[in-house]
Amino acid sequence: MNKLELKKAIEACHAKGQKVALSFCAHVPNEILEAAGFCSMRIFHINDIVDTSERALPRNVCPAVKEVYCLLEDEAIKEADLIITESSCDGKKKMYELITAQDKVYYYQVPQGNERDYVRPLLRSEANYMIKTLDKRFGAKVTADSLREAGKVSNAEREAVMALMDLQKSVPPVTTGLEIYKAWEDAQLIPDRAERTAQLLAARDRLAQSGAKAPQDAKRILVTGCPIGGVYEKVLTSVEAADGVVVCFENCEFAKVNLRHLDTEAEDMIEALVDCYQNTPCAIMGDNGRRFALLKKLAEEYKVDGILDIALTTCHAYTVEREKMHRFCGELGIPYLFLESDYADTDAGQMKTRIAAFVELL
Ligand code: SF4
Repeated sequence: MNKLELKKAIEACHAKGQKVALSFCAHVPNEILEAAGFCSMRIFHINDIVDTSERALPRNVCPAVKEVYCLLEDEAIKEADLIITESSCDGKKKMYELITAQDKVYYYQVPQGNERDYVRPLLRSEANYMIKTLDKRFGAKVTADSLREAGKVSNAEREAVMALMDLQKSVPPVTTGLEIYKAWEDAQLIPDRAERTAQLLAARDRLAQSGAKAPQDAKRILVTGCPIGGVYEKVLTSVEAADGVVVCFENCEFAKVNLRHLDTEAEDMIEALVDCYQNTPCAIMGDNGRRFALLKKLAEEYKVDGILDIALTTCHAYTVEREKMHRFCGELGIPYLFLESDYADTDAGQMKTRIAAFVELL
């Protein structure tokens, strides 16, 4: 997605009389925003953002944090009605305080773990606070029924994303990881969730019918780590140039968040939201045992030969979790490669060489 496409998506929602809420993290419960009548768009990566963050941010901050800062200071999103910021990692949390349009900002607090006693009451309190604030600021009412309806639409999208990735379970996989990622990325241009789901399902059918493209003996790679929107082309083309094939994405765009499910039949819909969002195996969580359990399950289901862990430069959560990942993959008996990268292309050659050597060893 580029700035113009984002601007057009916001305008399309306004033309339908719908307000737009932008968010940047999978911890944000989009169902509440949609139940309140907003179009909720999660932004993963904007291709043509120029880095103008140096006056406000230290140089050695994660590229995702810099990019979100630059976008939030850009004309392209001036028309957005609400900006949902969140306390996921410390870099993002403090960066949001620098945004000029503070009147549009809403802060969502994310727990720092999944299992402690305080987690569920915090998630519950945050959900209720968001509902109250939307009413106060916009007169937008959220009811149990509107949450149920928003939940059904969100669940359908999650299932469609997983159905797209599930094409890769077959041996040989149906297509390349690059095709799967691009199909997902193209769908992100569509602001309406139901229409986006339809496009994801259509892409899945198209790829399924196009016949197996990946070589029979290609080594099967699982990609884990940070969101890869700004680096996916260099990573995935390197895997494929080395005769590997990405069969599974564990990160935020795919399994990590799309295996979550909101129980739309629950009596207490806030409790159902808590169940759903508590189950987010993200590296900002300490301890993050759910990520390891998820990786084990995915490695078996997708018959993985190697695990490729991609972290954005200076992302402490993922770069420090690397050592645990290394030990864990050793216990699983699955070869593991960790790479740190940013949105520039300067490391593309080095990345290609390291990935080629890794795939060669499998
Ligand atoms: S990649 Fe890491 S540092 Fe960057 S925004 Fe995500 S959690 Fe924060």
